[in-house]
Amino acid sequence: METPDIATPIHARIVEGLERIATALKSDDWSRAQAAGVNPTQLSILRTLEGRNAGLSVKDLSFQLGVSQPTVTDSILALERKSLVEKRPDPADGRAVRVVITDTGRAAVQAGDAATGTVGQAAAALDDEDQELLLVQLVSLIRQLQEQGAIPIQRMCVSCRYFRPYAHDDAARPHHCNFVDAAFGQQDLRIDCRDHETADPSVRAATWATFQKGRPLHPPGN
Ligand code: SF4
Repeated sequence: METPDIATPIHARIVEGLERIATALKSDDWSRAQAAGVNPTQLSILRTLEGRNAGLSVKDLSFQLGVSQPTVTDSILALERKSLVEKRPDPADGRAVRVVITDTGRAAVQAGDAATGTVGQAAAALDDEDQELLLVQLVSLIRQLQEQGAIPIQRMCVSCRYFRPYAHDDAARPHHCNFVDAAFGQQDLRIDCRDHETADPSVRAATWATFQKGRPLHPPGN
C-alpha cells in the first residue's frame, strides 16, 4: 500500500480528481449534444451565445471557448445550416459580422440541458452543505485560472459589477445583486449569469477581498 509519506502533493491529487471528473463530463457532453442534435463543440458555441443578445464575433467565440478560429468557423457554418445561429452585420464595424443564436438554437440548448448528466446527478446526490462548499471552491479555482490568464473572465458573481458580497447581516442570504436588487445566499452564487457585467479590475479585486474576508471558516453546521 502506498503510504501517506510518499503521496503526491495535494494540488497534484486535486488535479487527478478533476481529471476523473473531466472524463465523466466528456461523456455527459456527448449525451447533451446528442439531445440537442449537434456535437459538443457546436453545443458549447450555442451555450456561449445564449444570453448574449448582441452576439459574438468568431474571434470572441474562439477566445471564450479556447478553440481555434478555423474550428469555430466550421462549427458556425454547420450551425447556420441547421438554422441554430445567424450572422448579422456588426453595428460597430461594417466589415465585421457577429454570430447570434436563433430561437431554434435556444430550444436546442434547452433540449441539451434537460439531459442531466452523470456528473450533475452525482453533485445533486451530495448534501446541501457539501454542494454549497463545492460551489464556492469551484468559484475560487475558476477565478484563480482567470487571474493566471488561462481562461477569459467568466460570467460569475465574483467578477460582476452588480455583486455586493456580505452586504447583509443575514447568514442565509448575505449577498446582494444590484441587478435584481435582491439578497441571495452562498448557494445561489452564479458561475454563468446572463446578466453579468464585468467589473473594473480594481473593483473585482476589492469585491474578491470582501468575499474572502466574509467567508465562514467552516461550512454552516460544522
Ligand atoms: S447580475 Fe448575475 S452575476 Fe451579477 S451579481 Fe447578479 S446574479 Fe451575480
